[in-house]
Amino acid sequence: MKNKWIEVIFYFAISVTLVVLLSQVSVKIWGGKPEKAPAAKKLIIDQEMTLKEFGKENNIQNIVLKRVFKLTSPKELSKKLASFNMSEKELQQKISGSLAIESEKAVKNWQKILIKFFVWFLYLSFFFILTRKKRVKTGLRIVLYATGVFIFGIILGAEPSPMGTVKDAIFLYSSHRVIFLPRLIAFSVFILFVFIANKAICAWGCQFGLLQDFIFRLNRDKKTMNGKFLKQFKPSFALSNSIRIAFFVIFTLIAILWSLDIIEKIDPFKIFNPGSLTITAIVFIGGILILSLFTYRPWCTFFCPFGLVGWLVEKISIFKIKVNYDKCISCKLCEKSCPSHAMSAILYGKKNIPDCFSCSSCIEVCPTDAIDFSLGKRTKPPKDKFKNKDT
Ligand code: SF4
Ligand code: SF4
Repeated sequence: MKNKWIEVIFYFAISVTLVVLLSQVSVKIWGGKPEKAPAAKKLIIDQEMTLKEFGKENNIQNIVLKRVFKLTSPKELSKKLASFNMSEKELQQKISGSLAIESEKAVKNWQKILIKFFVWFLYLSFFFILTRKKRVKTGLRIVLYATGVFIFGIILGAEPSPMGTVKDAIFLYSSHRVIFLPRLIAFSVFILFVFIANKAICAWGCQFGLLQDFIFRLNRDKKTMNGKFLKQFKPSFALSNSIRIAFFVIFTLIAILWSLDIIEKIDPFKIFNPGSLTITAIVFIGGILILSLFTYRPWCTFFCPFGLVGWLVEKISIFKIKVNYDKCISCKLCEKSCPSHAMSAILYGKKNIPDCFSCSSCIEVCPTDAIDFSLGKRTKPPKDKFKNKDT
């Protein structure tokens, strides 16, 4: 027991090293596509240039020129820029938007994206059944987290991810005023997952969410429901959610005002594409992973834009964690086992419920089988249900 901390640090170091090394191998095997569009560049514009010269000078494909200037024949490429009556600012904005769409199409590994969504669908259906049947137990959970990290992170890579679809959609629209349809579809699918089954996509499908959960459980003692090596803590939801909202607003404003993507610099999903890691990203991701030993999913609760949007959609989820107060004996084991503040709010029938990651920890510990992942609205506890029970 004395050496618990050595055990935790050992497994932490091995796990993170394996994720980085195996991801690097996987990236090499998939090969080729960078998966991230290059940053927008400043165009060289002279209104006396013909479209052909303008395209050549700025390395812009004809298909982009055709779309922006609404050309009907190749002959029109000899027209001068001035004849289209567009200001430099307008030209820069339209061309960058169109280029952004073209590079989004070109850099994606479409085959991998389709495979990943198909596997997500299968995996989440499997977990949906497991959770409904109350079969997720501590030992199995850690194996399933490791399997999820391996499949969705190491094998199927950093992209796509629920976080990436929100971040890139906001960035593309804010900086270029363009909507990339495949991203919108991917985002809608993720939101549909949340609408159906609470945050099951975060719990069992998001590669970085799974990695944080896996690390958190490495340091979780089943009996004490706390850290094996130093105590685990739950930051107040008001604090974590306020920081998450502020981060979302700052990210969006910077994208609108300076066309800069600040998440890109620290994107934790890059751990699954180690070649793209910068020093800033390494320090940030390292900090998040170490913090994950002591607090539940710090990236999800303090920063993730999908975490924030998903938390809002959770309010109307069809399936969610519910307490049957006829069976509940007010022992509060579920509250103690919950890694976030969600069960503290659900159990006492509060209105504002923090993120529930559908992790099943509460279901697992309930001695009277009073908690379900089921359809319909939550009921409130009877008055005095928890009176004199140290609420
Ligand atoms: S909240 Fe966490 S699990 Fe959900 S998308 Fe963001 S990083 Fe992934
Ligand atoms: S333990 Fe907490 S986060 Fe996990 S399913 Fe229960 S209420 Fe949700």
